[in-house]
Parts: sequence; structure tokens; C-alpha cells
Amino acid sequence: MIENNETFEASRNRCLYQRQYRIKNKERIQKQQREYYIKNKSKINKLRKEYYIKHREHELSRQKVYNKTTAGVKAMRLANWRRSGLIDLDIDQLYDEFLAATNCDKCDVLLTTDQTTTKTTKVLDHDHESGCFRAVLCNSCNVKDRS
Ligand SMILES: [Zn+2]
Repeated sequence: MIENNETFEASRNRCLYQRQYRIKNKERIQKQQREYYIKNKSKINKLRKEYYIKHREHELSRQKVYNKTTAGVKAMRLANWRRSGLIDLDIDQLYDEFLAATNCDKCDVLLTTDQTTTKTTKVLDHDHESGCFRAVLCNSCNVKDRS
């Protein structure tokens, strides 16, 4: 931090001095910090907690916005696929194929991609034993396939 009227040289010297001071007095500073913490424990913990809550909400809202972006939707979908056991060498290409598919590979019904799951919702079918991708199906065919 350069204060008013302070030359660059003076500022740098002050920094170096502070750094050396900290190195030289490391233990003493740590002891002071520990004592300060013990004395102000409840206050510090309260501030930490407040910061955490604020930070957490910020993170959650950031995540919410990201989840609505193209990249966010893709990341969520790929995570779901992997969790369900899908193994594919080129999952990015598979995702593109999935996005491009308009009709069910089995019954040819027009696929939908709404938030709520219906009979025509687009789903990725994979072999549960090998983990390999099989087809892009409507939800109805996928369920029938399983039984
Ligand atoms: Zn179908």
C-alpha cells in the first residue's frame, strides 16, 4: 500500500522492513494472535459464522445461475450420466449427439426436453453391465427396456 506523498522507494523499504519484522518475531506474533483469539473468541467466531453464511449464500446463488447456463446444464447432465454408470470414451461427442437427437431411436416419437419428466422426455440409454451408450430414447421406451 502506497500512502500519500510516499515515494516508491520508501514504500518498498517499509514493506521489506515489515516482512523482516514478521520473520524475526514470528513466535511472538503467533503468541499475540493466540492470546487475542482467546480473549475475543466469541466475537471472532460470530464474525466467522456470519462470513460463512454470507459467503455460502453467495456461492449457492452463483451455482444457481451457472446451472442455468449451457455449460452448467451440460456439467450437471454429464455428472448424472457418470453417476448412473455410463462409461464413454468421448462423452463430449456423446453429449452433442444427445443434444442433436430429435426422435426416439426405438419408437420415433418426438422427444421433449422440458423440466418435468413425461413419457416423451429425452433420455440416454446405456448398457448397465458394460456402461456403454446404446441409444437416445424417450422415457417411455427406456422404462419398458428396463423391465
Ligand atoms: Zn420411444
